[in-house]
Amino acid sequence: MAQRWIIHADLDAFFASVEERLDPSLKGKPIIVGGGPGRRGVVASASYPARVYGVKSAMPTAQALRLCPQAILLPGNPHEYGRVSQKVIDLLLDYTPLVEQLSIDEAFLDVTGCQRLWGPPEEMAKTIQQRIRQELSLSSSLGVGTNKLIAKTACGQNKPGGLTLVPSSQEAAFLAPLPVEKLWGVGEAILPKLAAWGVRTIGDLTRIDIALLQREFGIVGQGLYLHGRGIDPSPVVPEVPAKSIGHEHTFEEDLEDPGEVERRLLALVEKVGRKLRFHGARGRTITLRLRTPDFVTITRSRTVAQPMAADQEIYQQARKLLHRHWRPGMKARLVGVSVSNLDYPLAKQLTLLDRPLDRLSQTLDWIREHYGEEAIRRGSLMSLPKIERLQDAEVLKGENHKE
Ligand SMILES: [Mg+2]
Repeated sequence: MAQRWIIHADLDAFFASVEERLDPSLKGKPIIVGGGPGRRGVVASASYPARVYGVKSAMPTAQALRLCPQAILLPGNPHEYGRVSQKVIDLLLDYTPLVEQLSIDEAFLDVTGCQRLWGPPEEMAKTIQQRIRQELSLSSSLGVGTNKLIAKTACGQNKPGGLTLVPSSQEAAFLAPLPVEKLWGVGEAILPKLAAWGVRTIGDLTRIDIALLQREFGIVGQGLYLHGRGIDPSPVVPEVPAKSIGHEHTFEEDLEDPGEVERRLLALVEKVGRKLRFHGARGRTITLRLRTPDFVTITRSRTVAQPMAADQEIYQQARKLLHRHWRPGMKARLVGVSVSNLDYPLAKQLTLLDRPLDRLSQTLDWIREHYGEEAIRRGSLMSLPKIERLQDAEVLKGENHKE
């Protein structure tokens, strides 16, 4: 088989850079795109002049403004971010149909076998970076490697504006000196254990026996073993439209409190909503699945006139279904929610909805994509047992799109 070559392209300070495109007088100034400095506003993106002061994405806006009081705070412009993001994807598609979009500002390209057309992968990456700069006035960082893991890690090494190539057969040597937390799959949950074993770098990790990794971390341990050595066979997968999008969860203990079921339902709806928006899809039919401890599964649907993609709308319908079919004394072993009857009017805009109303969902999506599932939770999911506090999210929404 021919040597695989993967490029990872990541736009630098994307939201802030799009704001600079819209208003060039912002160039070179500290910009923060994010929610208002009220208690729950967070930074979605910061320009590099703001980052100098320690401002980071996902940081509370109030804290960011303390670090950099002169920063210009902007509420964000999701529609424009989506439009520009699609232009970048269209540009990437000039080189290969194998483009996998990872989030609004990141994508993998499988350019294996493209050399005859476009030259060596590094040249190709250079051309792409120049075109993004010249045609779209955006700075990007690119990583080139023999697999996705290496391309993405390489990309993160020289930001902003970098281009990093890891030659074939240098994968393990490239990773070895990097801090272990830079490795895909190493999260907060396993860091303490690795630290206890004296694992600081990815190179240290490769000295840990696979049996021990598996015993300690299960399937994740296998992944760590391979990733630590720079091995990642996963393919670049272009998106294909789905017929329905859903999530379900089996609980460790059966739930009997309908309030608790509601709470789990909201968490599932958020996952479904995020996926819908990522695919630029909306759906008119919502289906709720409930399984009782004796494995009876109840599946109930309702179809609405207006297609839905916002968490709030989907949740309202799901909750109605739950209340209609929940009986006193009932217990739930599994809850699932899915949206079907999909159309893709927004596919060209990727994650973004026409309506500014959904900026909160957008921002949450973006932060989760960048920082993982646990990076941020809606106020109502933090610790409150009941879902009646959904207005918390609405408060943030109001804050977010005050223009
Ligand atoms: Mg980026």
